[in-house]
Amino acid sequence: AMERYDSIRERPAITKDGTRVKLTMNAGLMADLPSLAGSGAEGVGLFRTELQFLIRNQMPRRGELAAIYGRVMDAAGDKPVVFRTLDIGSDKVLPYMKPQDEPNPALGWRAIRVALDLPGIMKMQLQALIRAANGRPLSIMFPFIAQATEFLAARDHVMRAIEREDRLGHPLPSDLKIGTMLETPSIAFAARQFFELTDFVSIGGNDLKQFFFAADRENERVRRRYDTLNISFLRFLEQIAERCADTNTPLSFCGEDAGRPIEAVTLAAIGIHSLSMRPASIGPVKHLLLRTDLAELKQVIVEAGNDGRMSARSSVMEYLAQNNQ
Ligand code: PEP
Ligand code: MG
Repeated sequence: AMERYDSIRERPAITKDGTRVKLTMNAGLMADLPSLAGSGAEGVGLFRTELQFLIRNQMPRRGELAAIYGRVMDAAGDKPVVFRTLDIGSDKVLPYMKPQDEPNPALGWRAIRVALDLPGIMKMQLQALIRAANGRPLSIMFPFIAQATEFLAARDHVMRAIEREDRLGHPLPSDLKIGTMLETPSIAFAARQFFELTDFVSIGGNDLKQFFFAADRENERVRRRYDTLNISFLRFLEQIAERCADTNTPLSFCGEDAGRPIEAVTLAAIGIHSLSMRPASIGPVKHLLLRTDLAELKQVIVEAGNDGRMSARSSVMEYLAQNNQ
């Protein structure tokens, strides 16, 4: 499927009206790495580290993880890789951890909540990441941050890990970025200071949409019920983009919607100019971005809202069809 887009693989995604959109890929397994070159991805915008924990029947060791992370960075070369720390719980259960019996796993003990309560695993993982970087740049993000204090506590663990590695004589990363996954509506409304402190924000659209509409992403009955191009949701995303622009906080989007061309150009039109997706989506998304005038598309979205539409989808599709014939 990727061959169809061979001719644009090395081209940057610049829209018809001149906006540069950064396209990166999501990964998590060693098998994903060849796609870095094959897809034209500008880096790995989301490395889901839990996959390495989920495919084993016992907790991986620090050395083992460091070797894996090192190989990911080697494969990426000069391209950036954003490592998301362990995101377990809810739909992702480790075979060697006691399963939790929770009435509402999606709202339960998961992701950063587990990491902050049982910091041993996260400390081990942070050490492995710092050692794998071995003097190269390192970018880390924390999943499921629902309030600023969780980010601060997690960031503190990174700082302590850095100090420890320094004491032990290991080389420190040449550059360190510590970011937040925005997956709950609460953090979108955090104080300005939070946006100034986090080095970047990445919207986890799968979870964010689930919580915005209160529609379980695992429940077939409700998971496709609400359109990503729903006007309320787009207005919410646009506010996030404005807050980030206002504080110069780099913003990206890494949920599945980033890899759907119509959703992707819509996200770009409302001000999200960095998208991370499965590798096979980069070609089709870039193809549409190259032909789209984001300012015109933005106007179409605003008008759909002003006209009282529930979703911008039909207006966006009509515009794209006229524009691309
Ligand atoms: C998300 O929630 O959008 C996301 C990228 O993380 P995951 O799908 O792994 O929960
Ligand atoms: Mg998520």
